[in-house]
Amino acid sequence: MIDFRSDTVTKPTDAMRKAMFDAAVGDDVYEDDLTIKELERLAATLTGKVAALFVPSGTMGNQIAIMTHTERGDEIIVGKSSHIKTYEVGAAAVLSNVSYQVVNEIRGALDPEEVQKGIRGEDIHYPRTSLICMENAHGSGVVSSLESMQAIHDIAKKHGIHTHLDGARLFNAAVHLNVTPQEIARYTDSVMFCLSKGLSSPIGSILAGSKTFIHRARKYRKMLGGGMRQVGVLGAPGLLALKEMTKRLCIDHENAQYLAQKLDGFKAFDVDFDSLDINMVFVKTSLDRDDVAQYMKKQHIILGGYKDEYMRLVCHNDITRRDIDTFIEAIHTYLRMD
Ligand SMILES: *Cc1c(COP(=O)(O)O)cnc(C)c1O
Repeated sequence: MIDFRSDTVTKPTDAMRKAMFDAAVGDDVYEDDLTIKELERLAATLTGKVAALFVPSGTMGNQIAIMTHTERGDEIIVGKSSHIKTYEVGAAAVLSNVSYQVVNEIRGALDPEEVQKGIRGEDIHYPRTSLICMENAHGSGVVSSLESMQAIHDIAKKHGIHTHLDGARLFNAAVHLNVTPQEIARYTDSVMFCLSKGLSSPIGSILAGSKTFIHRARKYRKMLGGGMRQVGVLGAPGLLALKEMTKRLCIDHENAQYLAQKLDGFKAFDVDFDSLDINMVFVKTSLDRDDVAQYMKKQHIILGGYKDEYMRLVCHNDITRRDIDTFIEAIHTYLRMD
């Protein structure tokens, strides 16, 4: 199967499976798992934070961050189409008892001016604004500039507000900006990134921040049932994700550019090049999307749907240049059948 739906579909590599087999493990609730400790140390170093915590999913990482940064009744600033606001089942309202101040984004990036307007002043009627959540790379495929992140960081600091980065695809953003992940994460107090997306680990994300932040986050992880035992079996592929798989993300970005150029060559497809910063291609089509998807499935090609008239095609470790050519050939055949 050539699966374009998401980079979450990546299977662990053979090296990862072997590392899982060989992993040194211990009870991580007792902080005895040496593999997880090594992973957390490396993750902290790479993000420029003092400490890090392995969590089962990105959603849990984000939610623990919100629980740790806020108090019941606070308000958090989130982008209109951010993952935290849109795709986490409204968890912040339930788990942290906070409300959302939803602000407009410009192509996925938070706009410093909008953020400034969203901050509550001193008034008996207002909730306290305690956290601003940024997202980079954004789920729309767009990478925010360091300048805009810095501007928001400065606004937050001026008002004594915490900042969190949903960096599920932090390493993709770093590749696009040609900077280290640390240079991006320096504009927020905490950062979450996924090992399980383009980095091909089977399970897991990292939450990183200050020593006291992670100390408190560890307790919330336990509260949510995310304290795990011999979890070094997941730490071992996580280490390979960071040491090896980060080096090859640029290939996915190049493949996405290649796929976009090829698709745009068809009259029936219109690629959104403005959102093509990382490994995701958003494309409009005049064709019947369900019919195309059904046909492709018979050719062992899985296409992902997306909002409105857009399709989203994601390049990752399990998709080669040749797979893309196979897909393009299949489109030619499909169009000839008309
Ligand atoms: C995937 C994703 C998450 C959540 O990760 P899960 O591991 O699927 O819970 C959070 N934020 C963004 C932007 C994502 O793309």
